[in-house]
Amino acid sequence: MSRSVIVIGGGVIGVACAWSLRQAGCDVVVVEGGELAGGASHGNAGWLTPSLATPLAAPGILRTGLRSALDPRGALVIRPTLDAAWLRWLWRFKRAASAEQFSAGIAALLGLTRRTLAQLDAYRSAGVEFEMHADGIIAVARSREAFAWFDATFAELDRHGFEGDLVHMTGDEARAAEPALGDAVGAATRLTIDCHVDPVSLVRGLAAQAGEIREHAPVTAIAATASGWRVRAGADSLAAEHVVVATGTAAPALLMPFGVDLLIVGAKGYSVTAKGTGTQPSSALYLCEPKLGLSALDAGLRIAGMFELGGNDAAIDPARVRQLVDDTLPFLRDWRPAPGWEATAWVGFRPATPDSLPVIGEVPGAAGLYVAAGHGMLGVTLAPATGLAIAEMIAGGAVPEWAAPFALEQRGQAPLFHRSACGARGADRAKPPRGRRAAARRR
Ligand SMILES: Cc1cc2nc3c(=O)[nH]c(=O)nc-3n(C[C@H](O)[C@H](O)[C@H](O)COP(=O)(O)OP(=O)(O)OC[C@H]3O[C@@H](n4cnc5c(N)ncnc54)[C@H](O)[C@@H]3O)c2cc1C
Repeated sequence: MSRSVIVIGGGVIGVACAWSLRQAGCDVVVVEGGELAGGASHGNAGWLTPSLATPLAAPGILRTGLRSALDPRGALVIRPTLDAAWLRWLWRFKRAASAEQFSAGIAALLGLTRRTLAQLDAYRSAGVEFEMHADGIIAVARSREAFAWFDATFAELDRHGFEGDLVHMTGDEARAAEPALGDAVGAATRLTIDCHVDPVSLVRGLAAQAGEIREHAPVTAIAATASGWRVRAGADSLAAEHVVVATGTAAPALLMPFGVDLLIVGAKGYSVTAKGTGTQPSSALYLCEPKLGLSALDAGLRIAGMFELGGNDAAIDPARVRQLVDDTLPFLRDWRPAPGWEATAWVGFRPATPDSLPVIGEVPGAAGLYVAAGHGMLGVTLAPATGLAIAEMIAGGAVPEWAAPFALEQRGQAPLFHRSACGARGADRAKPPRGRRAAARRR
């Protein structure tokens, strides 16, 4: 029997869930408040990068963040803000930055990234059309010392059985592999299994095979009914057996009525995408010192980066935009952006959890209501596996063991069960199992 599912959110996570659910035979409707790929999934670098899938909350990171809070040019900026949710986020971030949690986070993310590239192949076999560049990523630096963090992280990945390779190169070898690189590059490392896509093309390609798509239909309420769930989307009321909340930074507000205390904040990043003169890179490049990602796209060269925590101002700061280009040009031989490139500036908010792990799974005590959000700086990388996990949970009726670390219960983000927010039947559905009820009372 086919199952009916409403997926809320038309970013890369929502459409990846919808696509896999369709493949599993479900009837799917995607409801998007604005346009498909209008959020963080729009102007990001588009990397699917198992080699860089590590938590941001690494030992020592807070020192870097607080230092760069005083440096307006910092790649990671943590702005002090007196907001209760933000302060709790920061506290949890600090706790997550232990060697133990960092290692556990890498192992958990590996469970997703192991499935992500195969799933990308499945998209192509099914005829999903999107722009993809499968020639790895080259990380470049002025000197080999800049790779210290990189090498340590990769050693950790290796310890967990990571299948990818690092190929170290001198500056000259790097220039031979990528003629767009300039003399400033003194050392490089090729990440062999990674690839990049045009993220908007991936979202649109998946959406074309993901069932019914309703844009400009913001969801304002989710309520349980006798047979499943009802969702108010714009002027319409939709019903289905299952609901997946995949609304990125907006997920906490939608799930709050169910007592879910989801700690997700927006981490602001920038990009520009420009055609130019001179030799444009043909592969994706990571510039180690300024921490910028460059993606060669059909639309031009995309330069993306910066991770600003502690504010939700969507204004585009022209100084940050100029910085993207100023910090990039020394690494390139003769590429220069064509006049007017500033107009392509974009900002997006990564849905960031304190431990950098997404939240994927059913809301405890609310059977049929799922969340897939909080993918932070890895949403494109993790989307294919996230979709697969959600489809296995809903259509297959079981949580795959590799997705278990992302369940709400595992993350200390389980509901507090505010029953009043649910309807009569909703209250029943929101009732936690016996053991958990005691835990909820303790909290
Ligand atoms: C500068 C930058 C570079 C990045 N580079 C990479 C990269 O190279 N690789 C990578 O893996 N990740 C990258 N990321 C991270 C990636 O962009 C995000 O993790 C990912 O896009 C999150 O996808 P999402 O679907 O969860 O959220 P979004 O794309 O934000 O989608 C959520 C959608 O939900 C909709 N929505 C919200 N509320 C409602 C509502 N009430 N009703 C209906 N719809 C609603 C929104 O309109 C939006 O379209 C980057 C991010 C930035 C900012």
